[in-house]
Amino acid sequence: MVALDSRKRMEREFKKGKMPLAIDKTVYKRFSERDMIFARVMWDETYSGYRRAINEKEGAKVGMKGYSRQGYAAMNAAWMVHDTFRQAFSWENPKQPVSSLTQSTTKLKKFESEDLEKNSKIVKRIGNVFGACEVGITELDPDYPYLYTHDRQNNPIDFPEGVKYAIVMLIQMDYHALKTSPGLPASITTGNGYSRMAFAIASMADFLRNLGYKAIPAGNDTGLSVPLAIQAGLGQVGRNGLIINPKYGQAVRICKVYTDFPLKIDHPINFGVHQFCRVCKKCAHYCPSQSIPYEDDPTWKSQWNSVSNNDGSYKYYVNVETCYEFWVKNSTDCSNCMRVCPFTKPPGFAHDLARFFIKYFPFLDPLWLKLDNLMSYFPWWQYGKKMDTEKFWKGKKYLGK
Ligand code: SF4
Ligand code: SF4
Repeated sequence: MVALDSRKRMEREFKKGKMPLAIDKTVYKRFSERDMIFARVMWDETYSGYRRAINEKEGAKVGMKGYSRQGYAAMNAAWMVHDTFRQAFSWENPKQPVSSLTQSTTKLKKFESEDLEKNSKIVKRIGNVFGACEVGITELDPDYPYLYTHDRQNNPIDFPEGVKYAIVMLIQMDYHALKTSPGLPASITTGNGYSRMAFAIASMADFLRNLGYKAIPAGNDTGLSVPLAIQAGLGQVGRNGLIINPKYGQAVRICKVYTDFPLKIDHPINFGVHQFCRVCKKCAHYCPSQSIPYEDDPTWKSQWNSVSNNDGSYKYYVNVETCYEFWVKNSTDCSNCMRVCPFTKPPGFAHDLARFFIKYFPFLDPLWLKLDNLMSYFPWWQYGKKMDTEKFWKGKKYLGK
């Protein structure tokens, strides 16, 4: 056990936002992706969500407010690229050995460049072209703790020699669709995000191979995406366990490509999320399954007694079992916690001002929270409210914020 004062020091640093991730390595151990909730649904007969598909009740829901026929059509269509192009997610495709994904597909001479800054700029630029709203880079140390030990098929996660960088990409979600959660349009933007992840990582990986380097594209597989995004300087973790980006809040999906292309790495950022989450608790309040804790401070151990929670990390442990059970009940997924997060609100003078104060003057956090709540209070003003799905369908157009 790490000495108590070491834990206390980590707690202090984490709460001030000076430590992006805090783990007690004597307790925290890498775990298998098979213990992740979506994998357990397929094999764990002891879990009440075993073999329960989230759309199993869609027939009964069609026509109910928020669950239109076109909503289901669009939601399933949104996942189409992701579901039919699974080779984009190399590790999830048993027919495609990892070795084939690390070989160059071009006859051109290898692109040799030791200018790390230039290499990173190239990667970020092309990442934006391939659909990422933000791109960050981090390096995996030899005993990197956030990789899974095994994939869903029980194959060990073991990268080829030299593969030590992770290019982490954020894919923006449609803010207005997200605002309808837990209605169907929010699920449409989730599925669409996954399909665009497939496009972005497949293209980025091929780009790197064409330069003559190894590249392994990954979505949610191979390792935890949130710590990677934090280390790549793309945001901080919120109470609900998801990434909060300074510009897009929680309206993003994360994907990554591992490579041996030499790159300049980014560093974690702090814009006041850890302090703000201590007072905010909006995601906990609006979670329909009450799966997010209300305690002021994170803990080192999960209170949920679930194999899908991994103790030894200083964080708020989410009950992923009850979360998934709500998805089944809802007959689609849910993004309420992302929707209500004040950081998800679009940029603009007032929100940018609030973010400035949250970053530099955290003692004012309760005031900003009160203001956010007050502005959502007026019935005639849509500020911060769940968007009616009919309004979403009548809206002029996408996009973003
Ligand atoms: S996704 Fe929905 S049910 Fe799950 S933790 Fe977030 S708000 Fe709760
Ligand atoms: S809703 Fe509030 S408590 Fe939850 S992640 Fe966002 S800022 Fe943190």
